[in-house]
Amino acid sequence: MENKNIKELQDHIDNFVKERDWQTPPSDILTHMIEELGEVARNVLHMKNYGGQHTSEKDINMNEELADLLYLLLKMSNECNINLGEAFARKMEKNAQRFPPKK
Ligand SMILES: [Mg+2]
Repeated sequence: MENKNIKELQDHIDNFVKERDWQTPPSDILTHMIEELGEVARNVLHMKNYGGQHTSEKDINMNEELADLLYLLLKMSNECNINLGEAFARKMEKNAQRFPPKK
């Protein structure tokens, strides 16, 4: 699965969700995204040793939390009938024009 393009990932998640009857409205997906973003934030704080906490490497699992966010982003895109690969390409073209590279 690691070499799939964005459309293939969206299709995979669409099947995964339907097979489990896990369809949820965008508002629920958004709430879940915020929860997962909080888990990413907690990992970042651990990585910075925020508050002097002693955190072992095994307590930091950024890979899993970013994967959770990607799953939800793909699920949200499906729920909103958005081709995320096309949307991303168009937005990056806009960004490239708006923010030209420094010489
Ligand atoms: Mg998580």
